[in-house]
Amino acid sequence: MLGPVILAASRSDRMRRLVSAAPVTKQVVDRFIPGETVGEILPVIDELTGNGLELTMDVVGEDITTPEQATAARDAYLELIGRLGPLELGTRAEMSVKLSMFGQALPGGHDRALANVRPVVEAAAAIGTTVTLDAEDHTTLDSMFAIHDELRKDFPQTGCVIQAYLFRTEEDARRLAANGSRVRLVKGAYKEPAEVAHQQKHEIDKAYVRILRTLMEGEGYPMIGSHDPRLISIAQELARTAGRKLDEYEFQMLYGIRGEEHLRLAAEGHRMRVYTAYGTDWYGYFMRRLAEKPANLRFFLRSVIGR
Ligand code: FAD
Repeated sequence: MLGPVILAASRSDRMRRLVSAAPVTKQVVDRFIPGETVGEILPVIDELTGNGLELTMDVVGEDITTPEQATAARDAYLELIGRLGPLELGTRAEMSVKLSMFGQALPGGHDRALANVRPVVEAAAAIGTTVTLDAEDHTTLDSMFAIHDELRKDFPQTGCVIQAYLFRTEEDARRLAANGSRVRLVKGAYKEPAEVAHQQKHEIDKAYVRILRTLMEGEGYPMIGSHDPRLISIAQELARTAGRKLDEYEFQMLYGIRGEEHLRLAAEGHRMRVYTAYGTDWYGYFMRRLAEKPANLRFFLRSVIGR
């Protein structure tokens, strides 16, 4: 019951100010967002890659309101890519971007987001890596998929995310599986109405398995974005049945969640990519992590009231 309330709060400016100003918030946030600057995140990248893990880097931020913020977002990614280049990690460190942070919701937003994200994709390709377009709320997805198609004309490795809770996703998955895309499948983290999305966990899980089968049997590269142990073992089974080798799909999990499982899958020979977020505009990302597991909220509140 708490999840939808927290997700509604994730879009509230008043809650943003309250949560951000809470005296110990930062300590709790660090579990999920282990740095605010490129300088702080580089040692984290070093540690994760040293443990045999791969990364997808997210500069936190979304729902920006001015064109200047959109270009600042682009520049933040370009700075990161500039610092990753000399490390020669190639695809071991890719980028994840939210198009709302690149101006998608501003006037002329579709073209603006494309214009801002393209240099990031070009810079990533120049250091031998790639970019994945995160999925945000359902109203943004037609534009996201169109930008994905556009970028793939020059950079076919550009990935995108699909959300199992949306009714539309089974069809999106068939298209992306047929055109050979890199696709991350997740359950979905936004508050979506019953007209467009499954609301029950078991319905979402069943849809996840159907969609994953489509991706595994298709021509693309499936990226399994989940911490759910049941779905992870089903994914391994589906990959085997589809005859995929270990380097023909990958697992992805979020930094700070089930860290021991990251290491276990990597030790089994799987490609395991950790979604690692950093930056100062962490509110929306943090609130979605609280909504996914209400125990996180209890921990957060206990730390705020000092018990
Ligand atoms: P759940 O059933 O929610 O969780 C399974 C188990 O994992 C839980 O029992 C718990 O032990 C653990 N767990 C899960 N979440 C948490 C948490 N926050 N804190 C502590 N433990 C937790 N969603 C989008 O809508 N768009 C995206 O672009 C997107 N990108 C993602 C990228 C990656 C790599 C991952 C892993 C997730 C992404 N998500 C995205 C979030 C996703 O939609 C889910 O909200 C999230 O992954 C929780 O679902 P789950 O599959 O882990 O299953």
